[in-house]
Amino acid sequence: MTKPKKSELIPSTVDKENPATWLKYTKNSCKFCASTCCTMPIEVRWEDLVNLNLVTEDDLVSPLKTTIAKLKKEKVITAYRKESGLFALKQTDEGKCRYLINNRCIVYKKRPLVCRAFPLEMGWRHGYCPQKPI
Ligand code: SF4
Ligand code: SF4
Repeated sequence: MTKPKKSELIPSTVDKENPATWLKYTKNSCKFCASTCCTMPIEVRWEDLVNLNLVTEDDLVSPLKTTIAKLKKEKVITAYRKESGLFALKQTDEGKCRYLINNRCIVYKKRPLVCRAFPLEMGWRHGYCPQKPI
């Protein structure tokens, strides 16, 4: 009998909308995961938009309201939350981050803070994440 691959041992009962079903994160978790966290809506800071070149030099000197309207029109963001100062990045029609290509983050070195801090310091359940087999 063939020994199952480690990825096959990951239960498929995880519901990304329900943190109670999430699995404990370890340093190897991402190796066997279909990047489920990159299919969840993310909110990013102004600095992240700058790092990702999603805002132009004109945007840097324009009133925030103008830039927000422009980013919404360009389908870069869906919302701005004044209380937190965070921008909700628009997902693709397939429901994933615009930077997730072939299960890889194409802006990994410049990825937003939330992506760096999830799931140990940010997220609905610290130390747990919605892992799914590749
Ligand atoms: S859901 Fe968890 S294991 Fe999967 S890529 Fe995101 S952080 Fe890594
Ligand atoms: S920026 Fe990269 S790490 Fe962050 S959600 Fe998008 S693909 Fe995932």
